Order: sequence, then structure tokens, then C-alpha cells
Amino acid sequence: MTAIASVKGRRVWDSRGHPTVEVEVTLETGAVGRAIAPAGASRGTREAIDLRDGGTALRGKGVARALASVTDTIAPALVGRDVTDQAGADATILGLDTSPLKETLGGNATVATSLAILHAAAADARQPLWRHVANHYGTTPSLPLPEIQIFGGGAHAGRRVDIQDFMIMVPGATTFDEVMEVTNEVYFAAGDIMARRGKLAGVADEGGWWPSFDSNEEALETLVEAISLAGETPGDRVIISLDIAASEFGKQGRYRLALEDREMDSGQLVDMLGGWLKSYPIASIEDPVGEDDPEGMAEFTRRHGADVQIIGDDYLVTNARLVEEAAAAGACNAVLIKVNQAGTVTESVQTFEAAAKAGFGAVVSARSGETEDVSISHLSTGLGGGQLKVGSFTRSERMAKWNECLRFQDDLGAGAFVGGAPLAATWWGRKNKEDAA
Ligand code: PEP
Ligand code: MG
Repeated sequence: MTAIASVKGRRVWDSRGHPTVEVEVTLETGAVGRAIAPAGASRGTREAIDLRDGGTALRGKGVARALASVTDTIAPALVGRDVTDQAGADATILGLDTSPLKETLGGNATVATSLAILHAAAADARQPLWRHVANHYGTTPSLPLPEIQIFGGGAHAGRRVDIQDFMIMVPGATTFDEVMEVTNEVYFAAGDIMARRGKLAGVADEGGWWPSFDSNEEALETLVEAISLAGETPGDRVIISLDIAASEFGKQGRYRLALEDREMDSGQLVDMLGGWLKSYPIASIEDPVGEDDPEGMAEFTRRHGADVQIIGDDYLVTNARLVEEAAAAGACNAVLIKVNQAGTVTESVQTFEAAAKAGFGAVVSARSGETEDVSISHLSTGLGGGQLKVGSFTRSERMAKWNECLRFQDDLGAGAFVGGAPLAATWWGRKNKEDAA
């Protein structure tokens, strides 16, 4: 047992320039662990609450109340506890806040503390965090398959296009390094095409290009062109992945695509997306319908679940019980794991375990508001077998997370890359098997 000696909160600043919570846990041995809470812009209504001060200062985003939770409530309960008992520490935190969405302490206070405890335990064991995670949870580490944004949209780009993330994945790569190389080529090819056509308006919140397209389909067409211009055959080594983030443009089964001034019901949205799946090499799609549209999600999964990865983000909010319910209802076949949606490491790992049990894929994910914190690179590698979504291929809060994985590659060996395994059950996996035969 190594006891926690102190838990300290600190105000730091995120990639959008907003304040956020950093927590530093120091042990009796002198080992230190530190973590920073990220912040979402397109948030699920059932995720842990990011506690903010409100008012006019700092645009209402001050974190004095969340820092007070750390200093006044969380720290006194954790000092003296065994740092290696992550589940016990997280249970203690949960016992301090019985509200359903952690609004009393703030999910930003709880997640930074919970992750800092994990970091401190790893530091005390003199191990990189990913190795500590694998030892602690009995998992087999592997380098994840990245999902990388090329264009930002939705809440991350002034709603310039309705769809939030136009991404690529490189399941046909044999190393993590190769994914980075291919992504560099596709990212800049996309920028060149957009600049040439006057469609490039800047860089969105997660580092992807901020597009000025006339339709959501134009974004898809351009992405296919960019993949080709990069010397790839779309759907071969590289596939398209989308985060529709439909809760951002629809409620109770009614959706409105502002860019095209089109209103539709859930059935029409499902039909439209089904058309995209036929026309473009899309092998993964996130939140195709809103968080409050279980019929739409079940219908979409019934039609396409055997062909593409269908990820629940706002729909499942990193909640193990919601994953179990979705599996029983035939909705989704994968879950996004955002540690701050759950609010603690233990609940996030429980969701990861519930996903494995349900046969769901798991994509560990950053938020649109991020920092230099690279905990999620370690978590996804340590837990193994998964995927990692951290935004685009520029801006250091994103690149820090990809670069950290390259360091793990040196320790684990290039062969530890999962490659296309997470997409094996999709049309891409079947095609790939046929190509290999
Ligand atoms: C997402 O929706 O997957 C995402 C990363 O965005 P945000 O952090 O704004 O929820
Ligand atoms: Mg999402």
C-alpha cells in the first residue's frame, strides 16, 4: 500500500482558451500523478456535468467551484487512502456526490482526480501509465486503430456543415506509424483541394479543416477525392468514418439540416445516411440519430449493423448500463469511451468491459476542448484491442496524443498495432479477407 499524501487542484486552460481543472496527487513516497479535465461542446444530456461558475467572468466558464470540490470535499476523503485501489478511491468520490450526473462535485473535478490517482499509482510503480493500466486491469496492451478528423463541422466549426466529424481510418495499415504517414498525405491533399476551390475557411476546434461546402455530400465527395489525390484507393487501405452527432441538429425524431435547409423525420434521416453508406466507402458511423431516438438507432442498426461500425457517443455517454440496454435492444455495435462523460476511471473501464461482453467495439475518445494531457493514449493502449479518436492531425493538443502512441510503439514493437481488427466485422473486413484470399 502506498498512501495518498495530498490532492491539489489547479486552474489551467484548454485548447479553446477556456479554464479547466488540473489535479495533482502526491504520494507518501513522493511520487506524483497529474491529469487535466477535457471539455466537450456537443455534449450528451446524460453525461457527467462539467461544473462551471456561471456569471459573466470568463464567459461563465470559471472553475472555482469545481476546484473547491477538489480542495474541500474530495481531498480530505482521499488523503491516507491506498493509491493502488483505484476502484476504492473512485467509489469514495462517488459516495461524496449522490446526484445522478455528478453535478454536486462536478464531473470535471472527479475525472481529473480519478485520472491523477491512476497516474500517481503508475509513477509509484515506476511504470508508464499504459503498462500500469494493463497490469491493473489484466488486459493485453496494443496500439489502437486511430480515427482521424479531416474536416470539422457541427458544433466544432460554427455549424458550417451539419455533420460534425469527417474522418478517415487506415485499417489496412500494418503499423501505427504508417497510419500517421497516410493521414498526413490525405489531410494536406484535402486542404489543397479546398484551397483551390475557395472552400477552405480555416481550422476547426479539433484541428481539422473548417470547410465552406454547400452541402454535406460535397464534404464526402471532397474527402473521397482527397484520399485518391493522396495516392490511395478509397475503401482499400483507407476508409471514411463519420460522427453525425445528430443530437446537435435534431430532437425527438425531427431533424433539420441547416446547410441544405432540409427538415426530416427519423426514418428520412436513416434513409439519407443509408444512401451515403451505399455511395461512399464509410465503414464507421457515430451517433447517426439523436440521443433521444432509440427507435431510429435500432432501425439504423437493424439495417446496417452487419456492415458498418455504429458507435454510440451521446447515445451511450460511456455508461455500462446503457451499453447493456443498447445491446439488448439491438441498437449500436460500438461505444465511444470518454472518461469525462463517465466522470471516473472505474466507470469508464466498466463501460469498456460491458462493451467487450456485448461484443461491441470500443473507441477511446478525446473531447473537442483538450489539453496536453495524454491519458487517453495510455488508456486505449493499456486496455488494448481498441480504437482511438483524438481529433485531427494538427494542433499540439491532438498531436501530443498521436505522438505519445509512437513512443509506446518503441516499447511494444510495431507488431502491437491492432490494424484493421476492430473493423473486421464490417464490409471493409469482409472485403479485406476476400482480397487476401
Ligand atoms: C464527439 O462528439 O465525439 C466529440 C469529441 O465532441 P465533443 O467533445 O464536443 O462532445
Ligand atoms: Mg461524437
